Amino acid sequence: MVAKKRIYLDHAATTPTDPEVVEAMLPYLSDVFGNPSSIHSFGQEAKSAAEEARDKIAALIGARCEEIVFTGGGTEADNFAIKGTAYANEGKGNHIITTPIEHHAVMETCKFLQGRGFEVTSLPVDRYGLVDPQDVKKAITDKTILISVMHANNEVGTIEPIAEIGEIAREAGIYFHTDAVQAVGHIPVKVDELGVDMLAMSAHKLYGPKGVGALYIRKGTKLISFMHGGEQERRRRAGTENVPAIVGLGKASEIAQREMDAEAKRLISLRDKLIEGLMERIEHSHLNGLPTRRLPNNINVSIEFVEGESMLLNLDLEGIAASTGSACSSSSLEPSYVLLAMGLSHELAHGSLRFSLGRETTEEDIARVLEVSPRIIAKLRAMSPMLQSGT
Ligand SMILES: *Cc1c(COP(=O)(O)O)cnc(C)c1O
Repeated sequence: MVAKKRIYLDHAATTPTDPEVVEAMLPYLSDVFGNPSSIHSFGQEAKSAAEEARDKIAALIGARCEEIVFTGGGTEADNFAIKGTAYANEGKGNHIITTPIEHHAVMETCKFLQGRGFEVTSLPVDRYGLVDPQDVKKAITDKTILISVMHANNEVGTIEPIAEIGEIAREAGIYFHTDAVQAVGHIPVKVDELGVDMLAMSAHKLYGPKGVGALYIRKGTKLISFMHGGEQERRRRAGTENVPAIVGLGKASEIAQREMDAEAKRLISLRDKLIEGLMERIEHSHLNGLPTRRLPNNINVSIEFVEGESMLLNLDLEGIAASTGSACSSSSLEPSYVLLAMGLSHELAHGSLRFSLGRETTEEDIARVLEVSPRIIAKLRAMSPMLQSGT
């Protein structure tokens, strides 16, 4: 029997490492093993590879290379930005503005600070998950030291009005951080156009390796390090650099810069085909997030009278990998806090399904999802106690 082709549609959770990235990393896992801090040629070879990677990342987001600090991933970059500015600017104020739809990396960091003398305002979002820049403006007090709003939401794909918020932050003289982990490498991200002071990215969301990321820090931004030790990364992040991973992030950035425009176009066409197909074939289904200003690879739908978990398991049996809510909350039975913040009922939040497409996704994959999903949903609805008691 020929094994069924498995279809991976969970690129928002992680992406496969590009073979070109793996190839670029390999020498740094063997022959080129020097410590970048060493003066000898072994060290200098490693150092120049890391600096070349830094240039590529800076080019991708329109930054200067000295404004890029390597981290151990997106979570660390978010922690660094938020705790680093909070503790460096305590003298100025203790107020942080954020949103209820942030990734855990931002949300939990703000919660941590909230218990330690900081005040946190969580802004409302509308039913598409959009933040209103005017709400940001209204929330600013003379104690505000940081605004943190994500660039694109990992669950529903909504792209936030970052440039407008950046303008407000700049006028008020307040630092502005954005978690751009889902945006970098997928849509154009330029730090000056966005007006951000700090921006977090992660390699494994753009076909690079896991456990490496970067924080962009605009020149002049006051923030303290939270890793202490050696003088690496201009004293901003101590510890011997993970050179192979950094080289991988550099290569992934180079590939993204080269292919982003054409790839986004291709994905938007597949995305819209899948959205329209699902809406057409499945009664009582709703799109979550903005219809157009959304990530090119994100489809998030709520399907009435079925549980997201059941849909996931049944799709997995058919070889299709998707997600319900966020990858982080799928092990708990709580519905997605992002969907609840957008005003969805618990039932609709529980019945959510996310497909996130990627470079390997084909027209055939989309056709297969459209063939399999209505069948699974019809079967689940036939067994659903919600349907029987509800109608
Ligand atoms: C994945 C993700 C992160 C965390 O990045 P890691 O590299 O996995 O730590 C943060 N924010 C968003 C929006 C993400 O999607």
